[in-house]
Amino acid sequence: MNLNLFTINSYKFFLLHFYIILTLYTIMKDLFDRCKFGDLELNSRIIRTGLWESQREKTGNLTPEIYNRYENMAASGVGLIITELYSLYPRDVFSKYTNTVNYTHFARETRDLADLVHIYDVPIFAQLGFVQFNKENQQNMKVDDLSIDDLRKIQTDMIIAAQKFDLAGFDGIQIGLGNYYFLSRFINPNFNSRQDRYGGSTLNRLKLILEMIKVIKDNTRLHINCRLNAFDGTTNGMTLNETIDIAKLLEKHGVDSLQITRPRSPQYFTRENTQENPLINATEQIIKNINIPVILGGGSSGQNQINEILNSTSIDFISMQRPFVKDPSFLVDWQIEGNGESSCITCNNCYWKKTSTCHIRSCDPKLY
Ligand code: SF4
Repeated sequence: MNLNLFTINSYKFFLLHFYIILTLYTIMKDLFDRCKFGDLELNSRIIRTGLWESQREKTGNLTPEIYNRYENMAASGVGLIITELYSLYPRDVFSKYTNTVNYTHFARETRDLADLVHIYDVPIFAQLGFVQFNKENQQNMKVDDLSIDDLRKIQTDMIIAAQKFDLAGFDGIQIGLGNYYFLSRFINPNFNSRQDRYGGSTLNRLKLILEMIKVIKDNTRLHINCRLNAFDGTTNGMTLNETIDIAKLLEKHGVDSLQITRPRSPQYFTRENTQENPLINATEQIIKNINIPVILGGGSSGQNQINEILNSTSIDFISMQRPFVKDPSFLVDWQIEGNGESSCITCNNCYWKKTSTCHIRSCDPKLY
């Protein structure tokens, strides 16, 4: 009798432990989890963010190397691909280093690119932005000097670009409100002291964006992501509290997800900088206040490091850029190894030389 009781109790004890371990295992997050991102299904929690596109032709056309690179990324297990910057204006400061939206065969090539990554069930967003607003002989105009007509031009150009990507079969766009892009300055009190309805309060500084988001939402089926600085580090600039207010307003007006970044992100995130990543805390604070997906941008390079962030915080999505420049297929190795580390040494040569290829290569350049 006692033996039976002992056996039953042991069995219950075993079951309880098995249940606890199973529960812990199932709630543990892994970067290769299939997961929801708004209405989209992702193959993993890794978001690839692009920067420069140096492999395009001078005319803007995409080369076989670019299609190869995108196919390698899509096949690697990435969750979502955000393209290199599509520069809104041809004479902008970064336009010659990246993609533009106005060239012959744009529609056919972007359609081909979207179709290619969709074969691997990977969604693709176009990163849209510009750094300077130039008008006739006025270069790099200050936020306060733009007329209402200039603002309408920016809105119209952004809406037309969004419609083009919608027609091309892209799943979404990322609007550049972060780093040092023009729109990041427009929403920032350090740069915007306009006296009209587009200056003053946080809502007023955001109106230019909110108005165009409404038109894009009403006229396309695109997912809208905004890349946003958590803070800018200047005395009169953006604080985390204001970023949280902006995040709430963006969500309220239809933005589907955010990516959190900071000014001078590549310069900050190097191997030599061993400080705790301040964007982790900032991203968590933002997540607490809104109900749309939020991507942590920058600073991640190792599989264990990423899983540690996923499981010790409320962050569900991590963006990576330079590791994909070093090796567009690195996630394949990570899935096999289980303890992967990017071979990018964060030397930033690709950043300074404005290329989409790595300068520290030991392997065949034809692979890139
Ligand atoms: S050039 Fe440097 S920073 Fe860029 S991918 Fe290569 S190793 Fe990384």
